[in-house]
Amino acid sequence: MKEYDVVIIGGGPAGYEAAVSSAHYGLSAALVEKRDIGGTCVNRGCIPTKALLYHSERIADAQKLDMFGVKTYAEKVDRAALLAESEQVAAGIRGNIEELLKSLNIDIYRGGGCLQADHVVQIDDGQEAPVQIRGKNIILAAGAVPSLPPIPGIDCGRVLTSDDILEGRVTDMDSLIIIGGGVIGVELAGYFNSVGTGVTILEGLDRLLPGMDKEIGKNVKTIFKKEGIESVVKAVVTGIREEDGQAVVTYSTKNKELEIKADYVLCAVGRRPLTEGLFADGISPEMDGRRVRVDRDFQTSLPGVYAIGDLAAKIQLEHVAAAQARNCAAVIAGKEKPVDESLVPSCVYTSPEIACVGMDAEEAAAAGIEAVDGKAVLFSNGRTMISHSPRSFIKITAEKSSRRILGARLMCERASDIISEFTEAVFAGRTVEQMLSMIRPHPTYEEAAADALRDLAARLDK
Ligand code: NAD
Repeated sequence: MKEYDVVIIGGGPAGYEAAVSSAHYGLSAALVEKRDIGGTCVNRGCIPTKALLYHSERIADAQKLDMFGVKTYAEKVDRAALLAESEQVAAGIRGNIEELLKSLNIDIYRGGGCLQADHVVQIDDGQEAPVQIRGKNIILAAGAVPSLPPIPGIDCGRVLTSDDILEGRVTDMDSLIIIGGGVIGVELAGYFNSVGTGVTILEGLDRLLPGMDKEIGKNVKTIFKKEGIESVVKAVVTGIREEDGQAVVTYSTKNKELEIKADYVLCAVGRRPLTEGLFADGISPEMDGRRVRVDRDFQTSLPGVYAIGDLAAKIQLEHVAAAQARNCAAVIAGKEKPVDESLVPSCVYTSPEIACVGMDAEEAAAAGIEAVDGKAVLFSNGRTMISHSPRSFIKITAEKSSRRILGARLMCERASDIISEFTEAVFAGRTVEQMLSMIRPHPTYEEAAADALRDLAARLDK
């Protein structure tokens, strides 16, 4: 039986980054993957969604060219072509990852990996005699899949997940009901709206993106409404049924029972760790609910078996998975962890973008820190006016006593790039005055950060 220093089950960002880092430490590594290398992020998540959003936003922008006498008219957007383009991008990225793995002599095994006793991984590739390999160390990185809540009728045939959409199982639809106004719900609502599908979001909590700053969720709802996307908050979905080739969703909100119809329903209520088929009978690591339980060094309750990424992490993000992978490989190699995992920026690719890092004043208070928020609305920011962007703002938080930056919330164009300035500031413990002392280029979206910092300085002085 072939033996490696590290055998990794799962070839998504957690798995392939762990393989690459292990190889960099001089360890022999094997990667077991049953679908495509690149996992959810490359094949059914971040990359295809962002490709769809990029192109659908260009389509929406083209319609604004009327004001210059440029007439654009499309009877129907070719959604299959949009998906084919997103798949092309994903294929390119997959190819690059596979080349990198090959150049580092990492063996790739195609098939479902199942952990047996004694660190043996059995790979089921549909052959009669499955291959077995052994790892001195095992890293489990099997990821997560869309959750389907136990709503009566969820299996009526009209309910899709983000996997179904991004894998092109259904491309054309005139109307869509999205259950869940979280990150996937709002990003795909923007895409479908841009290509001409009528969208209604049903969110169970009191606002869209309930995991984020209240103002962000309310702003998204207002912008969506202007663009024609309906969203209902505090909506409890009670049933789904198929009727005359459509989905009928019943829900209650504000003590009223209501019903809406659409061609399809997208269920976007979160993702659950994928543990099915991962463990042989008798191999059962301790669990934290549906997540595999790990300690600070990613060690499961099974000695020499580690778990990283969406299978074990509290935060399901690509950059968290990749950071854990680099740190886990370092733990196995007996080296210092290279990445500080304490501060995780998060981004949502709506239009305008949203990006957050660190704490706001409310979260700081809950942690026993007296803090102050400062804010700038980008009404008079030149770039925002040029691009006719919807209501945008930058909010920055600092500790009252030390005036050090604790976090930032951005809802503006390029927020996903600008946020790193604030991640760095929190890491380095920079004060508001230090942040104000540097010159920012004009005209940029980012220069509005200085307005927010000046507002913050004034509030700290009060
Ligand atoms: P999520 O947790 O972000 O949102 C799920 C939403 O569904 C929540 O707002 C929740 O209140 C709501 N909900 C749950 N049950 C409901 C019900 N029965 N009826 C109505 N609403 C209900 O989950 P997601 O949007 O599915 O995303 C999954 C994961 O993928 C998240 O961890 C997310 O961070 C990650 N992701 C990240 C990005 C990004 O970084 N840009 C993009 C997509 C997904």
